[in-house]
Amino acid sequence: MMTEEEVLKIFADTGALLEGHFELRSKLHSNRYFQCANVLRYPRIAGRLCDELVAKMKSACDIGKVDGVISPAVGGILVGHEVARALDVKCVFAEKVQGEGVDATGKPVTKLAMRRFALQPGERYVVAEDVVTKGGRVQETVDLVRAAGAEVAAIVLLVDRSMGAVKFGDVPMFSLVQIQPVTWEPAECPLCAAGGKPVHPGS
Ligand SMILES: [Zn+2]
Repeated sequence: MMTEEEVLKIFADTGALLEGHFELRSKLHSNRYFQCANVLRYPRIAGRLCDELVAKMKSACDIGKVDGVISPAVGGILVGHEVARALDVKCVFAEKVQGEGVDATGKPVTKLAMRRFALQPGERYVVAEDVVTKGGRVQETVDLVRAAGAEVAAIVLLVDRSMGAVKFGDVPMFSLVQIQPVTWEPAECPLCAAGGKPVHPGS
């Protein structure tokens, strides 16, 4: 099995994990920038990482019968696809639709819904996602599966940014790596204090 170091090297080599001095979209500064899509753009590598993830899950527990893999769009779809290939089951995804009302910043609220796939009562799904920070979209996906009368067998993630803090009840959860996000307010950024200028990642 791959070590965390080997996985992190793959992220670094593919540009998914950059080290430096960055201004994030939140305006916070960080010494690391993480963009999972950069590793998933290489299908063979995405397949290898998901094979590892499935092997890790299977070695840890018997998840029983699995009928499919479900992911929250868009980020989770490629992970779900490769996990489904490794398990040799179908792959479906939940999509973002407009919810009711607006959030604190005035933006319309979005929620996840099953738009083009129907989940059947009694089916068992593995929920797959690329990155979890707070776990909101994964929880919504779990809720959709249960609302259809289906079951969640396990949750698999490439990256857990919560460092194990996010849990989904007693559903077994597996990640390939945990990466701690380190961010600072611009005024408190040690890299700025050292005279550096931040760059915008991805541009
Ligand atoms: Zn800075």
